[in-house]
Amino acid sequence: MSLFQRTTIALARSPTMGRAMRALAARSSLARRFVGGADVDAAVQTALRLRDVHGIRASLFYLGEYVADPVAIEHNVAQAIDACNALGKAGLDAHVSVDPTAIGYMESDARGAENARRIGNALRQAAGGGRDWMVLDMEDSGIRDRTCALHRDLLEAGLPAGLTLQARRRRTPEDLVWAIQQRTSLRLVKGAFPERALDHAGRERIDQAYLDAASIMLSREAQESGFYPVFGTHDDRLAGAIMALARARGWSPDAFEFEMLYGVRPDWQLALRGLGYNVRVYLPFGGDWWPYAIRRVGENPRNAWLLARSLTSD
Ligand code: FAD
Repeated sequence: MSLFQRTTIALARSPTMGRAMRALAARSSLARRFVGGADVDAAVQTALRLRDVHGIRASLFYLGEYVADPVAIEHNVAQAIDACNALGKAGLDAHVSVDPTAIGYMESDARGAENARRIGNALRQAAGGGRDWMVLDMEDSGIRDRTCALHRDLLEAGLPAGLTLQARRRRTPEDLVWAIQQRTSLRLVKGAFPERALDHAGRERIDQAYLDAASIMLSREAQESGFYPVFGTHDDRLAGAIMALARARGWSPDAFEFEMLYGVRPDWQLALRGLGYNVRVYLPFGGDWWPYAIRRVGENPRNAWLLARSLTSD
C-alpha cells in the first residue's frame, strides 16, 4: 500500500477528523460531488432523476462505517430500512448497499446478522422496481470471512442478498466459484483496502485478476444458475473487455450491469447507458460523508483539489 493510500485510509477512520470535518463543512464541494442527498427523501429524488432523465438505476447507501455505538448502529439500520421503503414507494429498485461494520458487526456477529436480516426483510416487502437487492460491501480483510458467512446466511434465509468481492485479493476466485452457483448477485470491484500479503502485486496484475474473475462471472455455469453479474468499475478498458466477452458468450446486455460511484465519471456512465447496458450508481446519502469522500481522494489524487476547496471556501 502506498503512503498516500495509507494516509487517506487513516484519515477516513479518524473520529477526530470526522467530527472536525462535519463541523467545518456539512455539505462541502467534495460531499456535493459524491453524496446524493442529506437524507432519504433527497437521495430518492436524486435516484428518480437519474432514472427518469438518464435511465440509470441506483443503490442507496447510508453513510457510516466502523460504528460501535449501539444507538448509532440502530440509526444506521433504521436509515437502510427507510431507504428500502422509500425506494419501493417511488417505484424504484429497492436496492441498498450495506457495510457490515455499520450495522452491528463491531458489536457482535449475532447483532450484525440480525440487523442484516431486518434490512433484507424490509427490502423484500418493499417490492420495488424489480432488481431488488441488499448488496454487502466488502471492507478490510479483518471482516472478510464474516461478510462471506453473512451472505450465505442471508441466502439460506431466502433473502435477496448480494456480495462485493475485491479482485485485488488472491483468494477471490475461490469465493466466486461458490457464488456463481447461487441465484445471487456479485459485485466485482478492484478493492479499496490494499494489503500486500493478501493481494496481487501491481496495477497490471490486479487488472488481469479482475478480467479473470469477470470471465468466471460470465461463464455458462453462471448463466444457467440465474446468477446476476455486476461489474463495479470506472475503468473503460476493463468495461470494453467485459462487453466483448459477454457478447462472445451470448449474454444479453440486460443480464448483467455496470455499477459506478455517484459523481465519478458521469460521462462514462451515460456513454455505457447509451450503448444499451444497465448502469447503476452507488448513491451515498447522509451527513457522515468524510470517511467516504476521503477514500475517493485515495482512489484519485485529483479529487484532492475538491477537498482543498472544501477546507478553504465552502
Ligand atoms: P481505477 O483504475 O482506479 O479507475 C479507472 C478510472 O476511473 C481512472 O481514470 C480513474 O482516475 C477514475 N476514477 C476511479 N475512481 C475515481 C474517483 N473516486 N474519482 C474520480 N475518478 C476516479 N471497494 C472495496 O474495497 N469494497 C467495496 O465494497 C467497494 N464497493 C464499490 C462499489 C462500487 C459500485 C464501485 C464502483 C466501487 C467500489 N469500491 C469498493 C471501490 C473499488 O474497489 C475501487 O477502489 C474504485 O472503484 C476504483 O477502481 P476502478 O475500478 O474504478 O479503477
